[in-house]
Amino acid sequence: MHDNPIGATVLGYPRIGPRRELKRAVEKYWAGALDEPALHAAAADLRARAWRDLGYLDSIPGNTFSFYDHVLDTTVLFDAIPERYRRLGLSPLDTYFAMARGTADVAPLELTKWFDTNYHYLVPELTLDTHFTLAGDKPLADYREARALGVTTRPVLLGPVTFLLLAKPAPGSPDEFRTLDLLDDLLDAYADLLARLAEAGVDWVQLDEPAFVTDRSANDLAALRRAYDRLAELPTRPRLLVASYFGDLGDALPVLADTAVEAIAVDLVAGPEAADRVPTITGLQHKILVAGVIDGRNVWRSDLRAAATLCATLLGSADTLAVSTSCSLLHVPYDLDAEPDLDPTVRARLAFARQKVAEVVLLGRVLSGDGVDVASALAASGEEVRHGLATARRDDTVRARLAELRPSDRARAPYAERVEAQAGLGLPPLATTTIGSFPQTPEVRRARADLARGTIDQDGYDALMRAEIERVIRVQEDTGLDVLVHGEPERNDMVQYFAERLDGFAHTAHGWVQSYGSRCVRPPILHGDVTRPAPMTTRWSAYAQSLTARPVKGMLTGPVTILAWSFVRDDQPLSDTADQVALALRDEIADLEALGLRVIQVDEPALRETLPLREHHHKPYLDWAVGAFRLATGGAAAATQIHTHLCYSEFGEIITAIDGLDADVTTLEAARSDMEVLTDLAAIGFSRGVGPGVYDIHSPRVPPEDELVHRLRAALTAVPADRLWVNPDCGLKTRGYAEVEPALRNMVAAARGLR
Ligand code: GLN
Ligand code: ZN
Repeated sequence: MHDNPIGATVLGYPRIGPRRELKRAVEKYWAGALDEPALHAAAADLRARAWRDLGYLDSIPGNTFSFYDHVLDTTVLFDAIPERYRRLGLSPLDTYFAMARGTADVAPLELTKWFDTNYHYLVPELTLDTHFTLAGDKPLADYREARALGVTTRPVLLGPVTFLLLAKPAPGSPDEFRTLDLLDDLLDAYADLLARLAEAGVDWVQLDEPAFVTDRSANDLAALRRAYDRLAELPTRPRLLVASYFGDLGDALPVLADTAVEAIAVDLVAGPEAADRVPTITGLQHKILVAGVIDGRNVWRSDLRAAATLCATLLGSADTLAVSTSCSLLHVPYDLDAEPDLDPTVRARLAFARQKVAEVVLLGRVLSGDGVDVASALAASGEEVRHGLATARRDDTVRARLAELRPSDRARAPYAERVEAQAGLGLPPLATTTIGSFPQTPEVRRARADLARGTIDQDGYDALMRAEIERVIRVQEDTGLDVLVHGEPERNDMVQYFAERLDGFAHTAHGWVQSYGSRCVRPPILHGDVTRPAPMTTRWSAYAQSLTARPVKGMLTGPVTILAWSFVRDDQPLSDTADQVALALRDEIADLEALGLRVIQVDEPALRETLPLREHHHKPYLDWAVGAFRLATGGAAAATQIHTHLCYSEFGEIITAIDGLDADVTTLEAARSDMEVLTDLAAIGFSRGVGPGVYDIHSPRVPPEDELVHRLRAALTAVPADRLWVNPDCGLKTRGYAEVEPALRNMVAAARGLR
């Protein structure tokens, strides 16, 4: 793999470019403002740039670029394009984008989360008679392009077993069809590809099998063995590095160690338990072990001393050791050098993708015993990390509050007592409400942009927001909703809004991370103790309440979601960080109550999505997650009705945690899963208010009243009318008023009809 005794590599690199050049290029192409050759030229620039950044590594990953998604690339490479896209008769590139984004006539492939990250991939749709063939040459062309620039890469491919495990049977497939049944056919196509890569001179290939850091059946493990036995015995092939990340390989590690692949990459950051098992596994002694010790998922500089010590303990376990990031650097921003304005005490502790490459290189040299200079560099780096930690924002008040917490701080009055105390709200059975946001109109967006540019001042902006809130209140009164919202016009994003108002968070100018396709997010960085210098939402909520006699819901984002969509400090347990955020929200709730708000919603859409990959990690996670929510809401008076909102349609695994939140009302995304969640809730004896979304806000379609009545009747078989709430299944901010008004009118009519 390399000349150094201990080689350095990374498992992947951001594709979007230092300034989101990819986003700009593809969006221009979609808009018809850039032609295909120009798009390819922009892509080639981005690849060349990445290879330059990676030049210091001993082994450079290739084929990490993608126009949209690497899972989609694999689907297309092996010709598993569903018929509905082929029929469009588009060019290969436009067929690819049609699968990603849909067209006027054809829906896109399903988009879903890539393991427990915020990256989303397009789910391959396979049928019983999908036949894989090597239809493209992307990995090969990428390799040649790099070679022409004097760079030798190690093409990265999605592994065949993970590809099949991430795929789903196309609608209409027989029940007994398993995508894994297609493995042998797919392996033939991989064999073709590996042979062609070898002929082109490729020495090493990386095959990613992250599916094996999740709980897998014996059958899946047998498929893994069959796949790598088969690929390893091919007569013509490059050497194989099988990479895992996002957790511990568990039982899959001995399986892989027993095959004849040349190298295995393990994630020692997300799966530190592997470090103890590695020395006990026979078969590794003949392989290269790629130790993922530099965190590829977070933005902190590594403690290189600790990493070097960990690596030293692994030295005898394998034939050769290489050091790496724990996963692809796709999940961190591109370059810290683009952030000169960050607070220097925070900045000193950070490393983005480019800086992490430098870290693995340095670590590799240190472990190779490369001389004194490196040792002093390491010492300097270690000093700086320690210095950084020493100056992490510390707030003794919040620490003292945490230390004094008692279990009763996480408990409200008994539910029955709360129901009585909340009777004063005077709500009818089948009460109607919405999830919080109303359409973010062009005027609202413009006001925000104008404030940022300075073309309007704060007073001008506030006046525009108040006008918008008034309009939202009037729309809801006209529609006849029972519990109103202020509409969230002042929020750019439900996490960023709060992170910008809390101390302990930093914000980057260019710290973008790909979420899906051309969509990027810029997560806040939670770097120190969190405190609330001033109320965050009260003036908007109180203003909204002043406009109407009906109850207005205060609207907050919960601690779990704030953590999930930020980069968070790794120098203390997540539970402590979550509790600090929870205390800030608890104070906000007290302020809202004092201003007369009697209903307050704490959104936790990320509760399900950050569920750990392996089941034995679920309980510790849910314990702190639920505990933080209860700490945030535990100070609310019995008379205050606490709502929560959860997204993502599969709630099965967290159903008892939803009960544990102890919210008075829980609204959930349910329209797409046909209210299944109600049966699950009924099964555990859930006894509080519940609002299963009665229509899907992801579609512009206006649901007719009779359809809503039908849904509600179904819901009424599981939940009595006095506990059943009627609401859309998520916020309305991406919709237009033209759809929202009639949809809400039908919803209110359906509820009234049934009352
Ligand atoms: N209150 C938020 C909204 O309505 C909730 C968003 C979400 O669930 N993701 O926009
Ligand atoms: Zn939602």
